[in-house]
Amino acid sequence: MKILICIKQVPGTTQVDIDEKTGVLKRSAVAAKMNPYDLFAIETALQIQVNYGAETTALTMGPVYSEAVLREAFSMGIEHGVLLTDRIFGGADCLATSYALSQAVKSLGMPDLLICGKQTTDGDTAQVGAELAELLDIPHATNVLEIVDLSENSMIVKSDLGNFTQTMEINFPCLITVEKDIYEPRLPSYKRKISTKDKPIQILTFADMPDQDKNHYGLSGSPTRVVRIFPPVHEKENEVLQGLPDEIAEILMMKLTRLKMT
Ligand SMILES: Cc1cc2nc3c(=O)[nH]c(=O)nc-3n(C[C@H](O)[C@H](O)[C@H](O)COP(=O)(O)OP(=O)(O)OC[C@H]3O[C@@H](n4cnc5c(N)ncnc54)[C@H](O)[C@@H]3O)c2cc1C
Repeated sequence: MKILICIKQVPGTTQVDIDEKTGVLKRSAVAAKMNPYDLFAIETALQIQVNYGAETTALTMGPVYSEAVLREAFSMGIEHGVLLTDRIFGGADCLATSYALSQAVKSLGMPDLLICGKQTTDGDTAQVGAELAELLDIPHATNVLEIVDLSENSMIVKSDLGNFTQTMEINFPCLITVEKDIYEPRLPSYKRKISTKDKPIQILTFADMPDQDKNHYGLSGSPTRVVRIFPPVHEKENEVLQGLPDEIAEILMMKLTRLKMT
């Protein structure tokens, strides 16, 4: 079984700079880290590898220095790494990101299972997994909480759909996005970090994409424009009410009435 895990490097701090002209995040190697949800995606692949046998590959799209997350994946036990990088992919929104990833998958060959994190901590749209599956024309399940069973041609998963959980069987090839807490991600092993520090990483660029139309990638391939990113402004003071619940409820009712908010 072949498993491909999509992982992303995200800013490790909230102090981020924005390109005023394009509205795109100025990414830097300095304070970057692995997207937390993707640690759970990696752990899910490693658990399937241990329990059912599998070959594992991590794929990331980003600037050259985002290879750091592939090295972190190696130190957790992932076997292969692919870096999808080209200035042409820069400024991509969800659709353009999913499209470039789908072209990379077509160039690498379709695996049996693709695993994504539920969402990232920067764009935070939780769109890429589902969009990637649609672009690859394969079934998908999102917010997977549990791998119930796995056989040669399909797997049974349990998804958290808010008010209820759904258990479903899904045929390979397919894509799942995983929730936090599906498994406890193992810590990177120092020994493996040292032994994999020179492990070759496959580089894919625009030239390797089956679709050679530049307009389908990056900023030009993105229908969404991030016009402005700004921290919310706190205009009003916060007031913390003290006392017994009944007293607080009464005071709150009085204040809301005075503010004509009821
Ligand atoms: C503050 C901010 C707001 C944004 N708002 C929007 C918006 O409203 N609409 C929009 O289209 N774009 C938006 N973007 C751009 C968007 O973040 C990027 O397109 C991003 O690459 C993909 O979206 P995401 O981070 O939301 O991914 P999600 O959909 O949240 O990511 C889910 C999973 O997809 C996989 N994945 C995502 N990106 C990559 C990657 N580069 N390489 C490998 N795997 C990946 C990972 O497994 C990840 O866990 C925004 C960016 C920022 C910084």
